[in-house]
Amino acid sequence: MYSPAPSRYDSPDFYRRCGRSGIKLPLISLGLWHNFGAHDPYENARAIVLRAFDLGITHFDLANNYGPMEGSAETTFGRILREDLGQYRDELIITTKAGYLMWPGPYGEWGSRKYLLASLDQSLKRMGLDYVDIFYSHRPDPETPLEETMGALAHAVRSGKALYAGLSNYRPAETLRAAKLLREMGTPCLIHQPRYSMLDRWIEPELLGTLEKEGIGCVVFSPLAKGLLTDRYFKGVPADSRAGHDPRFLKPEDITDKLLGQTKKLNELAQARSQSLAQMSLAWVLRHKTVTSALIGASRPSQVDDCVGATKNLKFSAVELAEIEKILAG
Ligand code: NDP
Repeated sequence: MYSPAPSRYDSPDFYRRCGRSGIKLPLISLGLWHNFGAHDPYENARAIVLRAFDLGITHFDLANNYGPMEGSAETTFGRILREDLGQYRDELIITTKAGYLMWPGPYGEWGSRKYLLASLDQSLKRMGLDYVDIFYSHRPDPETPLEETMGALAHAVRSGKALYAGLSNYRPAETLRAAKLLREMGTPCLIHQPRYSMLDRWIEPELLGTLEKEGIGCVVFSPLAKGLLTDRYFKGVPADSRAGHDPRFLKPEDITDKLLGQTKKLNELAQARSQSLAQMSLAWVLRHKTVTSALIGASRPSQVDDCVGATKNLKFSAVELAEIEKILAG
């Protein structure tokens, strides 16, 4: 019988307000994109989630298509809820998304009302939930009117199947239009979920400012660049690493000598701050107050421990920031 750590809420500074909403999110959130699928060992998946909750991580991020097989991460999470975590439902922010290919035919992806609402029903069933906390449009659909996609999110909230609406991978202008529509429909946009790390800084010129002005929170995904901004690949490609065993989105050839040269220099800087490279990479994305939370993945519980440890030192000196810029430019 699982009993969560009584110390899990001992650090109030571990939570940041999500835009101008009533919700606070943990500085580190856990995503179930990898390592929670049908072929991954259940006991490890369970251990990662429970360790996260013990450390104060209240926010678990899913999507309809996480697996493989599509849907299986939600099934795994549903089992963890059923067997261990479900009694703490009111302490959890559970999210799901729809947007990418989920089932065959013209209604199995993108942004139609038909797809989004059917997908949400499927997700709730797989997780054994009555509602999710946040339902996201996973990506903008260039062919469906934005009114229809936002209408589906607003309907999901009005029907009680989601508490809040979110956007993922929307560009600044689309975000503004979508946020306006949602506001008019009485369902303000709670949060945006873009990719952001030292290796992908597209949100810096405009999106962050847009979110701040609109009062929308921001949870950034792949802050460790899928493992590249850690010491994982310093001695080759381990068989149990993402690039080693699941190269769908991270291939061994992505780990170039140039990149390794940069990440080893970043690692030296991290060590001088008494941090692991993963910890410094997370602190770096969290240096923006508009970034509510860094959304990590993990293949073992110890990585969650290490990542949460990042929050012990979120401050950077001007010299450190300049040194990081120099390394990234090199
Ligand atoms: P990260 O950039 O955090 O990469 C996670 C990987 O980094 C882990 O699997 C592990 O690699 C490695 N790692 C994690 N912690 C450590 C550590 N302390 N030391 C060494 N290595 C470490 O994030 P992900 O790419 O996994 O994405 C996170 C989440 O973001 C997803 O689960 C999903 O919820 C969300 N997401 C959303 C998308 C969207 O379109 N909205 C798209 C992609 C992700 P290894 O497995 O090799 O051990």
